[in-house]
Formats: sequence, C-alpha cells, structure tokens
Amino acid sequence: MTDSSVRITGAEELEVCEEVGRGAFGVVYRGLVKATGQEVAIKQIDLENEQTDIFEINKEIQIISECQLPQITRYLGCFVKSYQLWVIMEFVDGGSLFEMLRPGPIKDEGVISIILKEILIALDYLHHQGKIHRDLKSQNILLSKQGEVKLTDFGVSAQLSSSFSRRNTTVGTPYWMAPEVINNSDGHSFKADIWSLGCCAYEILTGKPPLQNRFPPMKALHRISSCRRDIDFINLIGLEELGISTTFEDFLIKCFVVNPRERSSASKLLNHKFITQYSKIPDKAKHMKKLITNKNLNDLDNHILKNQNFYVPTEIAKNQRKWNGDSDGEQKENRIEFDISSIEYDTPPPIPSSPSSSKKSTSEYEHGGGSKTLSVDSSESIDSKQEVLIKILKPEFNRILNKSFHKLESKNNLTTKQYDQLVKLNEEIDNLMIFSSSNESQKILVFQYLKYILKELCKESDTDSAKSILRKLVLPSSLSKPSISVDSSPINPPDQESVRVGKFDEIERSLFDAWINKTKERWTHS
Ligand code: ADP
Ligand code: MG
Repeated sequence: MTDSSVRITGAEELEVCEEVGRGAFGVVYRGLVKATGQEVAIKQIDLENEQTDIFEINKEIQIISECQLPQITRYLGCFVKSYQLWVIMEFVDGGSLFEMLRPGPIKDEGVISIILKEILIALDYLHHQGKIHRDLKSQNILLSKQGEVKLTDFGVSAQLSSSFSRRNTTVGTPYWMAPEVINNSDGHSFKADIWSLGCCAYEILTGKPPLQNRFPPMKALHRISSCRRDIDFINLIGLEELGISTTFEDFLIKCFVVNPRERSSASKLLNHKFITQYSKIPDKAKHMKKLITNKNLNDLDNHILKNQNFYVPTEIAKNQRKWNGDSDGEQKENRIEFDISSIEYDTPPPIPSSPSSSKKSTSEYEHGGGSKTLSVDSSESIDSKQEVLIKILKPEFNRILNKSFHKLESKNNLTTKQYDQLVKLNEEIDNLMIFSSSNESQKILVFQYLKYILKELCKESDTDSAKSILRKLVLPSSLSKPSISVDSSPINPPDQESVRVGKFDEIERSLFDAWINKTKERWTHS
C-alpha cells in the first residue's frame, strides 16, 4: 500500500536508461529513481506530434491511475517535460509475452492456463470497474523476472461510466478484434476483451493470432466480421485441428461466441475447468521464469541484442532536426509549439493575431488528416494587407475547421441530418471568416463571437448552477483555470483556491505548470 503511493513528479527525479519498447504513442524507456534506485518504465509521448491525441492519453492515464492490482502495471505519475508528456509506470523487467514467443509457441497447456488466469483476473477487475482494455494482445502482456504476469497499455481503453466512452469507435488491432467491434454493431461491451483473450490464447499456442498466417489485416477483418454463427469462426480458424485438450478447446469456444451477450464473462471463465484444473500447480512462477530464460537464451543464440538505444535528450534531437531543415514536410512557420499561453482570456490582442492565437490552442489538441474539404474560397479582390491576412489565416482556419469537423464526426455517430447541418454550419462559419469588403477588414466576426461566448461562460457565478453545468459541458477543462485565477483575489482563502484548481486533472495541471514555467522563462529572457 505504501509503495503504491509513491509518485514521481519530475524528470529530475529520474535517470533515463535504455529503450525497452516502442508503440503507437512513443518510446518506452527503462528508468531509475535516483533517490531509491527503483526501476521504472517511462513512456514518452510527443505532444507536438500530429497523431498525438491528448484526449486519448488523458484517458489512458486516468484509467491506469485508478487501477491497483498486481496484474496491472502500476501508475507512478506523469508530467510534462518540454514538448513531451512522460508517463511513469512500474517497470516489468522480464519482457512482453510477444517476446516470449520468439523461441517458438508455447504448447504446454498448464503454462497457457497460468498466463490466462492472470489476465482473466485483470480483466475481471477492470470489467467490474466498468473499464474495457480493448487492445489485448501479447505485446501488451508483460512478465516480470519474479514470474508475475501484468497487463499494460491502456491507450485505447474505455471507461463505461463516463461520457467519453459512449463512442462506438473501432479500436484495437485487427487479428484480435471481436466481430461486434469490427461491425461497430454493439457499441463497446467488455465482452470484446474476452474475444481478444481467446485470440491471445490462440497466439500463445501457435505463435500467431488467428488468421494472421492466412490473410492480410483488412481481409482478416472482413472474414471475422462475416461470421454469423459461432461455428463459422471455429471452422475458419481450424480449432479442431489444433490438437488441444477438449477442456482447452471448450475454453476457446466460450471466448469465440459471436454474440457478445452470450459470450462468457471474465468471472465465469475464471471458474472454467481449463483455469481451475491448473490452479494447484506448485511454483507457478518457476514456469514463467522459464519462459524468460528460454527467450534470453534464444536471443543470445540468434544474436538478438537487447535494444541499446540510449536516451538522447529529445530537445537536442529535435532542434538538430529543425536546424537541418527537416520538419516532416510541414512548413516551419506553421509548426505549433505546445504552449497553452496561446489561449487568450482577458485582453485580446490586435485582431490579426487573434485568429492565429485561437488557431494554436485549437489545433494542438487535434489530430488526423483533415480529410474532408469544406468550402474554401480565397479569391476575393481586396487590399494587399488583407490579402496577406487571408492568405495566411484562411487556409489555416479551414484546416482547423476540417479537423474539428473530422474529429466531431468520427467521435459521434452522426445521423445524415446532423451531418448535413454540420456541413452547413461549417460553411456559415467559414463565410463569417471572409472579410466581405476592405472597410470591414478589422472584423473577424466568428472569432469575436466565439470570444464573447467563451467570456460569458467563463464568468464565475457560483449561484448559477445551469451556467456552471453548461460551462463544464462546453469548455475544454484547460480553459477553466485562467478564469479561476482571474477572479481569485486576496479575499479568496487559499484552500478554496486549491479546491478550485482541483478541477484540473493531473495532466492538465502538468500542462499548465509547464506553460507557467515557459512563460516565466520568456519574461526573464526578454
Ligand atoms: P503503445 O501504446 O505505444 O503500444 P505500450 O504501453 O504498449 O505502448 O508500450 C510499448 C512497449 O514498451 C510494450 O510492448 C513493452 O514492450 C514496453 N513496455 C511498456 N510498458 C512497460 C513497462 N511498464 N515495463 C516494461 N516494458 C514496458
Ligand atoms: Mg502496446
């Protein structure tokens, strides 16, 4: 219990060692807590990367920080360092199950049962908390040298009890995906994890998830989603030819039930004979340690070196890239620094810079390609100053509109009517952005309008509960703080202040602190 309360709050507390893994979000390093020598895993997420979705990361942190179970990698804290978010977790030192399969598949059903039981315990715990992992696969299952099995990577997990999980998004990795996830037919129930667990079991036994040896990902998705009856999938993957015990076969059949409502739950599977019959195996840890030894010996034989990429402070790496003129195809001046100082509250800057300010604050939270093109028309004949404004601002504004549109659409199951309305609204907003004549060049109506709305919403009025509900629903939570500090006066007792600041979650507070430091630096330099 005391151990779990350890929190790492800054990079200066850590020594960063070698890279241990890489994934969709960034790089994972092994690290050491300077004060205690404790090993930790450091997941570094590039906040400036277009693909980085702060919303998803925030969710991952929230979910993992609420979990306290030996079978789930423990969360130890997070903070922002320059343009990166560092997530600190317990370090699991044996390697991932994926690596354990390198020497060959695991045929010993007892060993498979031991691993599955630990994952089932983790799933049962998560599901009872209304959490869904959604990306169960061998890469996300880790083994410690003590022989423990731990579930990690909550990057695409969902929390059923909160508003962000009402989405019907398709997430996961193709070969491990349940039919209802692919078909997007049933929202997301936690039974999707059970299907993926079956795929993991199959993966441990054969070295690959079902269908990977036979179909490319898209084709596999199509075949899985075409299964109507349970027997369709069972036949498709040739379950009967696997040469496994009838108990194990029955366990897999229970995982591969097409209808999620009829599929077994984690708690039910924990009582399945395939799990219970091996429960009394003595010294289970020994079997897990053996897997690690096998992997290490195999790596030695095959000259697979441990990743020796040592940590290079990324500011340097990044600056070098910038100095070399390599900016990932993006125009340099278009690069957006992760800096929430760009959000204006009280005294708006002169109008020309106002849209670009909002631009920064909006687009840094966005990702995706902005694939939908809404109306773009920049062929007005107006004075040159304004032409420049339009040249710079309009395309950027359109990019933001497109991205927001895309995001809104992908996160909500829009009806055709809503979709059309949204297109119309976007066109209208875009029209308001256009300067209709040269005398009106100082009017960028849409931004003024949005600013007034935001200002009104930000005004504190504790008695007006409707407004505060509205504020919560409408404003990004990172906007609440400045409005708070604006009216925090010496009259406000400090504890009340800190209670209000508590509206921030951990990551937002980190971002805000990083911004304050950055601003301070800027002021002292100028
Ligand atoms: P992503 O969301 O990008 O897939 P993961 O959290 O799965 O990131 O981490 C990527 C890899 O890093 C994992 O497959 C694993 O090999 C390694 N890794 C992640 N977390 C830990 C940890 N706590 N201890 C040891 N290795 C880890
Ligand atoms: Mg992963």
